[in-house]
Parts: sequence; structure tokens; C-alpha cells
Amino acid sequence: MPLAAMLVFLLLFFSVSANAQITVNQDQIALTQFDTHYYIDESRTQSIADIQNAPFSSATNRLTLGTNAKTTWVRFALHNSSAVKKQLFLHVPEAYHTEQLTLYLISDSNTQIRHSIDLENNQAHEMLYGGTAVFPLILSPNERYQVYLKSDVFSHQWFTLAIYDETQSKHALVSENYDIAIMVGMLLALMFYNVILFLSSRKKENIFYALYLVSGTTWIALSYGFIATLFGIYGKSMMHLHLSLLTMPSFLILFMISIFETKRLYPTEHKALMFVLLLLVSDLVFGVFDIIAALKPASTLAAIMIVVTLSVSLSILKKGNPLAKYFLFGHGLFFTFNLLAIGYYKGLLPNTYVTSHGVGIGIMLESFMLAFIISYRIRVLERIEKQQAALQVQANTDPLTQLYNRRYFDQATEAILADDKQTYPVTIAIADIDFFKKFNDKYGHQVGDEVLVVFADILQKFTPDNAIVARLGGEEFIIALPNHSESQAFALIDKVRKQIENTTISSHTHDALSITASFGVCEIESLLKPAIINADKALYCAKENGRNQVMPFSTLSEPRLSLQTQ
Ligand code: GH3
Ligand code: MG
Ligand code: MG
Repeated sequence: MPLAAMLVFLLLFFSVSANAQITVNQDQIALTQFDTHYYIDESRTQSIADIQNAPFSSATNRLTLGTNAKTTWVRFALHNSSAVKKQLFLHVPEAYHTEQLTLYLISDSNTQIRHSIDLENNQAHEMLYGGTAVFPLILSPNERYQVYLKSDVFSHQWFTLAIYDETQSKHALVSENYDIAIMVGMLLALMFYNVILFLSSRKKENIFYALYLVSGTTWIALSYGFIATLFGIYGKSMMHLHLSLLTMPSFLILFMISIFETKRLYPTEHKALMFVLLLLVSDLVFGVFDIIAALKPASTLAAIMIVVTLSVSLSILKKGNPLAKYFLFGHGLFFTFNLLAIGYYKGLLPNTYVTSHGVGIGIMLESFMLAFIISYRIRVLERIEKQQAALQVQANTDPLTQLYNRRYFDQATEAILADDKQTYPVTIAIADIDFFKKFNDKYGHQVGDEVLVVFADILQKFTPDNAIVARLGGEEFIIALPNHSESQAFALIDKVRKQIENTTISSHTHDALSITASFGVCEIESLLKPAIINADKALYCAKENGRNQVMPFSTLSEPRLSLQTQ
């Protein structure tokens, strides 16, 4: 169509008289804008003789008359003012949606030619090329015809007429539906991509979106004659494909339910969506058996679905969902272009490219917006996951030393103990810096803090990678040593103790500082808690014994705290 429209500007050398007469005398002919007259036969029974004196009204070659014009006659005069015979073709590119087209050519000498195409019985017709009807118009030199075209439709009356010579006729037929083919191709590519995404991610919204795209593509291909052009099927045999009018909003609602997690997050909105879904699915099931009856409430259903989906997305937007504004924008575009299309089909708005393709444009724009929402949601989810991971680390970490805190230590050690005993035996060690109060008093709290950091680093560095090192609080630390018996742990921790004793620490104010620490170790029998109490007793004993030493709990005369004595 756009290509044909462009040709008009290049090739148009025609004149149109006030009484809708077209005079052709040039060599190349591509007439895509001319005046006509039309008459609506509400009785749907009048013959060519009956309508000769009927009250025709002015129109152009692009008509849209709504649902009350099921039988419409169009008339214009065609005059060959040249000295050569002209072989022309009248194109009706939107023939695919009509029931029957009948052409009468009445010459000045009253000879009458009649051509008729019955699309209802779905027979291939010699004058039907894909979705386009092509009627021959042969004009002898100086011959004049009155052209009458009768269009019978199932529901809405809309069509465009064009007149071409043989070459331009071929051009027009080849370029017919290019735009629709591009739309269909883009939507199908998006659909396949989302099916692949679904296969790898198993995210439901991808499959709902893919099914929405299938429905939208079917509707576009059907309504703009692409299916008729590709497969040569017309009329009633395509009726069931109109069920895409119901499946498209159904999958859109399922998409909304999935992407906004309405069941979990917005129960009221979820109920509203489920209600509309139920209506749509009921009509869909009904439509499988009686498609004509099922399509009757389709526009009412569409109105309900638009009101509910727009209200739901507005409400979700108010509740702070960042995706809702993009959905609302896409859905708003869909709604706006559909309004234009409804205006066009009802004969209220003129037949232009945008109005006649409103639904298709609306579907395309909404599809792109939904694709954007899917990718944007992945970004939002990634951001939330990162934030949660950061919060998790924060919640488990001691801010001063960056070691784990007590909470995490308990959790991680319990997990090790539950780990099929593969890590047994596990021994824990509790460390406490000697005379740290005095140290603080002497050097200041800030130096004390710096020492705590160095102390933590030594514990971390001189224990195995699978050891869990945590700060209990103050100047006390705890270490869990998987696969260490008490005596193995004793040997290891004593090395750590020596390392601390031999490390000279420099703070921001003092060089060559040194500290010592005392340790209590105890092997875990089965539970963590009693082992901690026992290790603490051993630590106390190490302090009593003169500090700067490691005390294994088993060397104490203390009875071992066990499950029973807890
Ligand atoms: P002991 O050898 O018996 O363990 O003697 P101590 O002085 O280390 O014992 P105590 O538990 O009585 O004192 C602990 C001191 O640790 C008290 C406080 O000044 C210091 N301390 C606790 N937490 C921090 C901290 O976060 N930073 C600094 N700089 N000092 C701390
Ligand atoms: Mg202490
Ligand atoms: Mg201490």
C-alpha cells in the first residue's frame, strides 16, 4: 500500500470531474486517489436496474461505512479520451473480508458487462489474487463507462479502490501486504525468541508472552488479508481464526498475573483479572462450537478487559511497582490505536493507513513494550538479588574485623555438623586477648581497635581455609576447625598463639606493640552449645594458669558437659 501510494505521486496524470468521472489518456496509469459516489442498499435485495436512480452520496475511493452498510454500491465514470484502446484493472485489495463483490460496466451505448466474485464459498476465483480482487476494464478509444461495484460484507463495510494499467497492476499486486508481512515477521521472530527463553529460563511470562504474540500475529495476518494472500482462504472458512480476538487478551492477562505476581502481591487485583479471564475463556470455549455467536459479545468483553486491565495496572502502579508504568504506557498505546481502529470500522473516522491499521499498530507497540518489560524485570530482579546478597553479608559480618559474627558462626557450624559427619571430628577454640583492658588504658581505644583487626587477620590467615573464624564480641573470638580432633586442634592453635606472641604490631601512633592471647579448645561431641561452654571453661583455666597458652578441655578435671547435664 505505501509503495502504491508513492507511485501515485510519480505517475499521477489524471483528472477527476465533479460528477466522479475519471478521464484516462496518459500512458502509465496508477490511480489511487479519486472521487466516487456510494449508495447503501439496506434491503440488500436491489438490482442494478433498481439502483440506477437511487440517491448516491459523494465519497472517495477509500470507504468505511460501519456495520449498517452491509450491501453498498459504489459508482464512478471512466472515460478513455485517448485514441488508443486502454486495458485497465480495478483493484479491491481488501476483497478478502467481503462476502461477495459484483462489478457492472455500463457503456454509453448501454452494453453491460458483469463480473462477480463469491468469496463465501471459498472457491479460488480467476479474478482473485491473494486477498485482492482484480477486475478487467477494457476501454476502446473515446469510450465511456459507468462503473458500479456492489460490495456485500459479513459485518463492517470498508474497502479501498485503485485503477492501474497492466504494468502498475502487477507492481501493486507484488507490493501488496509488504507492510503486513514485515509486522508478522517481527512478531513471529519475537515469539520464537520467547519460546527459546522459556525453554532455558522456565519463566512463565515468556510463554504467555509468546502465546499472546501468536494470537496477535494471527489477528493481524487474518484482518489485513495476509492469510488470504498466502493461503487463498476467505470468508467463513477463516472464521475460527477470529478466536484470536479472545486468546490475545486471555494471554495478556496471564502475562500480567505472572509478571506482577498478582496472586502473591496484589490479591484484590488478582481476583479482578481472574474474573475477566474466566469471561474470556468461557466465550472462547463457546466459540469453538459456535463462532458467530461467540464473536457477538467480543467487543463488550474487550471493553471490560480494557477497563479492568487499565485499572489493575494503575492500582499496581500506585502501590509502587516499577514495571506498572511501562505496562500502562504500552497498554495505553494499544488502547489508543484500537480506539482509532474502532472509529474507522464503525465509519466514524476516515479511511487512512493509521486508522485502518490501528489494531495492528496497537498490537505491535504493546508487544514491544511487553518485551521491554520482560528484560527490565530481569534487571530489577538482578538488582534486588545483589542488594539481598549485600545485606546478607552485612548481617553475617563483624564491621570492625570483617570476620563472621556469632550469628553466622552458630549457623555455619551447625550446618557443618549436619553435613553427614564428613567433617568429623570438629573442634572449637575460643580466644581471648590477655589484659586487653590495660592495653586499652595504656594506648587508647583506637589503638586497641587496630590491634583487634590485626589479631583477627592472624586468626584467619593461620587457620585452614575450611575453618570458621568469628568474633564473639569484645576481644573474644571463636574458631571451628572441621576434621580436627582436640589434640590436632591444640597443635594448630598453639602455633597461632605463638604467631600472635611473635607479631609486632604498628598502629597509627605506636610501633612495636605486642599482645598475647589465651585459648580454650574443646572437641564437639555432637552439639555445639555444650562444646562452647566447655571451651570457655578451658579458656578460663588458661587465664588462671598464667595466660598466653592453649588449654584443651580434656586436660581439665571438670566433668565433660554433655547432653544430659545441659
Ligand atoms: P583478661 O586477660 O582476663 O582477658 O583481661 P582483659 O582486660 O582482657 O579482660 P576483660 O574481659 O575484663 O576486658 C576486656 C576489655 O576489652 C574491656 C575493653 O576495654 C576491651 N574491649 C572490648 N571490646 C573492645 C573493642 O571493640 N575495642 C577496643 N579497643 N577494646 C575493646
Ligand atoms: Mg574478655
Ligand atoms: Mg581479655
